[in-house]
Amino acid sequence: MTGIRLSGVTKRYGETEVITGLDLDIHEGEFLVFLGPSGCGKSTLLRMIAGLETVSDGQISIGDRQVNELPPGQRGVAMVFQHYALYPHMTVYDNMAFGLRNSGVGATDIDRRIQEAARMLELDVLLQRRPSQLSGGQRQRVAIGRAVVKEPEAFLFDEPLSNLDAALRTRTRVELARIHQRLNSTMVFVTHDQIEAMTLATRIVVMNKGRIEQIGAPLEIYKRPATRFVAGFIGAPAMNFIDVERAGDNGGRLIVALPVEGVKVPTAIATSSLPAGKLTLGVRAEHVIVDPNGPLSGRAEVIERLGDRSLAHVSLPNNQLLVVELPRDLEIDTGHTVRMSLDAAHVHLFDETGQAHHGV
Ligand code: ADP
Repeated sequence: MTGIRLSGVTKRYGETEVITGLDLDIHEGEFLVFLGPSGCGKSTLLRMIAGLETVSDGQISIGDRQVNELPPGQRGVAMVFQHYALYPHMTVYDNMAFGLRNSGVGATDIDRRIQEAARMLELDVLLQRRPSQLSGGQRQRVAIGRAVVKEPEAFLFDEPLSNLDAALRTRTRVELARIHQRLNSTMVFVTHDQIEAMTLATRIVVMNKGRIEQIGAPLEIYKRPATRFVAGFIGAPAMNFIDVERAGDNGGRLIVALPVEGVKVPTAIATSSLPAGKLTLGVRAEHVIVDPNGPLSGRAEVIERLGDRSLAHVSLPNNQLLVVELPRDLEIDTGHTVRMSLDAAHVHLFDETGQAHHGV
């Protein structure tokens, strides 16, 4: 088990900088997820750790070894890709043994490692099959097994679940979480899927345009997003954003005016902590309260009944849509008027630079 340290890591392709001076300590044994939209640099970063891309500037250490100049095979990491790339003419057993035989591991040791990995991944009965005789999920388990038998110091996963259908993705996600619990190895995982990140990660690194927006535990990032970008990226449905004006102060906490005639709402955010300039209010659907005495009112345009909860998309008088989570026992139909208040303790404000300000 080994931690990984990135210091000032930068990647340029010609003139274009795709990763900029990135510092990060990946702790020994943690499940760290790089999360961000397509093109933000997640894979490039993972591939630099693996040794599949050169580093333009900065240092990468794995354990106490600086690895910038080491080829992938000497870094002590194993990578699992989105495309599992198994050898079609080899059995599952031979696919898992191939790399080990090439690096001179003895046959008895190879067999022990494969049997152990196969038990853990429930591949025992499939060892003599060829990849074409396996389902997509089984193939991906073989690809994970091939990494496990290398007994690496760290696992690197590049969107390994994105080729699987939805049900299988969920099951494999759970399996991966259990593998991490059993092996306790350092795992670094790249995804653009926030649900995957939220369920698997010890810590999430949210990336945007080659930089880190926020690092934190999943719920910390959900509850206290550091920036407007993170607030909008994490959570489904996305957070509601409304441009607001300063409208007073209640015991040191800012009151804001919404762009709807006469509607002011209190926040739990210290007025003195806010910089000058425009403010945007952010509130999640579950913190918009259906309240017959609330100051906001609008028309329910669309109701999404999701089973465990229902969401209403409510149009405000300024035509902005607000997504509201409905109480379980409330039956509302399209076209109904909904009155609402905002849960002041869970209102966030974003300044002009996109920095978040939270209540106490
Ligand atoms: P992600 O994994 O977050 O989708 P990538 O790491 O694949 O993003 O890519 C980050 C950026 O680097 C993108 O803008 C992509 O176009 C660019 N990029 C990736 N590989 C190359 C390459 N070989 N040459 C030039 N640009 C590249």
